[in-house]
Amino acid sequence: MNSQIKTAAVIGAGFGGLALAIRLQSARIQTTIFEKRDKPGGRAYVYTDDGFTFDAGPTVITDPGCLEELWALSGRRLSDYVTLLPVTPFYQLCWEDGFRFDYANDQTEIDRQIALKSPDDVAGYRQFLAYSEDVYREGYEKLGTVPFLNFWSMIKVAPQLMRLESHRSVYSKVSQFIKDDQLRQAFSFHSLLVGGNPFRTSSIYALIHALERKGGVWFAKGGTGALIAGMVKLFEDLGGVVHLSTEIDRIETRENRTTGVILKDGRSHAFDQIASNADVVHTYKHMLRDTARGQSNARALEKKSFSMSLFVVYFGLKTTHPELKHHMVLFGARYRELITEIFGTDGLAEDFSLYLHAPSVTDDSLAPPGSSAYYVLSPVPHLGTAEIDWNVEGPKYRDRILKYLNDHYIPGLLEDLVTVRHFTPFDFREELNAHLGSAFSVEPILTQSAWFRPHNRDDQIPNLYIVGAGTHPGAGIPGVVGSAKATAGLMIADARA
Ligand SMILES: Cc1cc2nc3c(=O)[nH]c(=O)nc-3n(C[C@H](O)[C@H](O)[C@H](O)COP(=O)(O)OP(=O)(O)OC[C@H]3O[C@@H](n4cnc5c(N)ncnc54)[C@H](O)[C@@H]3O)c2cc1C
Repeated sequence: MNSQIKTAAVIGAGFGGLALAIRLQSARIQTTIFEKRDKPGGRAYVYTDDGFTFDAGPTVITDPGCLEELWALSGRRLSDYVTLLPVTPFYQLCWEDGFRFDYANDQTEIDRQIALKSPDDVAGYRQFLAYSEDVYREGYEKLGTVPFLNFWSMIKVAPQLMRLESHRSVYSKVSQFIKDDQLRQAFSFHSLLVGGNPFRTSSIYALIHALERKGGVWFAKGGTGALIAGMVKLFEDLGGVVHLSTEIDRIETRENRTTGVILKDGRSHAFDQIASNADVVHTYKHMLRDTARGQSNARALEKKSFSMSLFVVYFGLKTTHPELKHHMVLFGARYRELITEIFGTDGLAEDFSLYLHAPSVTDDSLAPPGSSAYYVLSPVPHLGTAEIDWNVEGPKYRDRILKYLNDHYIPGLLEDLVTVRHFTPFDFREELNAHLGSAFSVEPILTQSAWFRPHNRDDQIPNLYIVGAGTHPGAGIPGVVGSAKATAGLMIADARA
């Protein structure tokens, strides 16, 4: 170990920040996390209202292996801290004409449902799955945790990217194999889960399908918040320190190296290495505002395109609905048109496509006896796309969504409502410091992926690092936990150099 490098700060306690801090602490770099909010988790925050527990963000846990690895680093086991429950079906996909597709990890069952809907697509689905497994091997297993720091690293993977036709979109690739319109939606919507428009996100993101089929879909007992609590406990058991309700105002630099952080209250702390898990634009534009690098890189980052935002409604009912599935995707009448509007039109569409989270189906600890907890999210334009006053439109939009659910999927919802709260693009901006209120940071398109994405280590400040959705490989729990592996590899190697 380089005797000069003994301490690190991680700014932000999202999945990426926590995973990085665990890796650093496991490598005996004394690590301190500074988190702005009063609870850890970032997008995976938890609300507790009137006896209900609501996970604010991620609920679909894939690739549990990437999480287990964090415990294995210190010879521990994830299962001693958190219980992961399998979810089946993975999702129930529903359309307004009554068609439903239970996407389960069961080939016979998938084939049976596809055959009923569109017999010709049974063979096409197999071809799509084979393609998805191919990109999973190349894009996730080989490159998902490798930092792309120079253009040469991009050139090296160009042949694979060309072979996999990564210039095509997820939807275009799905459509090559599958002909039925609703099945095309069923196998292309996944990129939305990491902030990607299926009509322009690189087909590399079709790997999510194989990721789910290989590793399954899981739910942490007690909610995703229980997984976050387990990660914090692991970090603290290893000797790490977490400061909550502690916003970082500035990152200090001297002679082009970071030297420490300055808190909002003016106190400062010195560190040998600093990693930011906060939004990338916020990191450069605000925390590095006094530096030439901060100003120039913020200008460059602001030119990138950002993922859409989300409008989320958390609600509790005094009844239960065992007929629902844990994860439900509720497609509206329009697919391509609606997505195109969300990513590019100033305004809020009249219709919506929703994701409904009904965790009480799997775990009865999240609501009082006889009651059930939910959230429903609607992808909406970010604040650079649409000028919407969410303080005015938010309550109206919430009511429209709840009425839609009441009329189509959860009869009696409006009568049985016990508690409700919502989170708007304004909240992403204010609470999470998210540029344009984007829910997933830099949009995952080919020209903003790998080397073209903000790097895991800054190009000019050699002891400043980035972790989380804004860097390689990108958003989603496996993505940001993968980014932590890439960033930790650099930090630990730099510390030992
Ligand atoms: C509603 C929703 C549902 C989702 N569902 C899924 C899902 O089911 N499965 C999945 O895999 N992914 C899902 N995602 C995506 C996934 O949640 C995110 O990509 C991931 O959690 C982001 O993690 P991160 O490490 O980038 O940090 P973030 O969660 O963005 O955390 C960053 C942290 O930095 C803190 N911070 C910011 N500025 C400062 C500062 N100046 N000082 C100190 N702290 C600061 C913030 O408060 C925050 O806690 C979902 C996202 C959302 C929003």
